[in-house]
Amino acid sequence: MSATPHPGQSSPVPSREVPADLHGLVVAVDGTSGSGKSSTSRGVAARLGLRYLDTGAMFRAMTWWMLRHGVDVHDADAVAARCGEPGLESGTDPSGPTITVDGEDAAAPIRTEEVTRAVSPVSTVPAVRARLLGLQREIITAALDGPGIVVEGRDIGSVVWPDAPVKLYLSADPAARAERRAAEEGGADLSATRQLLLDRDRIDSSRATAPLVMADGAVHLDTTPYTLDEVIALVVGMVAEACS
Ligand code: C5P
Repeated sequence: MSATPHPGQSSPVPSREVPADLHGLVVAVDGTSGSGKSSTSRGVAARLGLRYLDTGAMFRAMTWWMLRHGVDVHDADAVAARCGEPGLESGTDPSGPTITVDGEDAAAPIRTEEVTRAVSPVSTVPAVRARLLGLQREIITAALDGPGIVVEGRDIGSVVWPDAPVKLYLSADPAARAERRAAEEGGADLSATRQLLLDRDRIDSSRATAPLVMADGAVHLDTTPYTLDEVIALVVGMVAEACS
């Protein structure tokens, strides 16, 4: 894959047919917080009949468990000592992805501001990353024998599945990201939302283990000028091109 789409193009809807057999395909989607990774990845998976894995939800679920168990999320040794304990299960249906922690539905509590503020520090801990990397690779390996999977996160194309045939790196202007995120959160304060996104980017990009980077071979897509439907159409077109 080589071409980076241009905002000026008249129609981003791909002319190429999507190949019917995407058996075992892995699509890696990385990028900054609020760049549209989740909505895009879910939409692409639904359009192409693939599974969908939100690895950010796994880091959030781990963080939620730490907070509930009174672990100081800024104490890397304490987090590392306990990170083998929570039982995490991810459901990969793009029309209704699920996440449970010790059998309990965690979809709502992992999206609170408390978890959002704590997740990047927890994600810097190498033992946390090693545990979740194992779970992520198990889920992807299972999908290789089935319809394939879209996996989104920060290190999918660089660390989790470097051999993914399709790799994307999504970004967007901080102002656009903050607007989208604040709207999703029902009108949260714009400047506080923007600051939180930038703080997470800084921690995620500067950590020693598996930092957020653009993976070798990834296509960079700046989603700022596009609607969600347009971004989904662009990515479906890239998958078709890569698989033809
Ligand atoms: O994608 P989301 O914003 O829900 O991710 C929450 C946090 O989880 C990120 O800010 C990052 O700290 C961490 N994360 C990660 N590696 C991934 C996915 C998420 O470090 N593959």
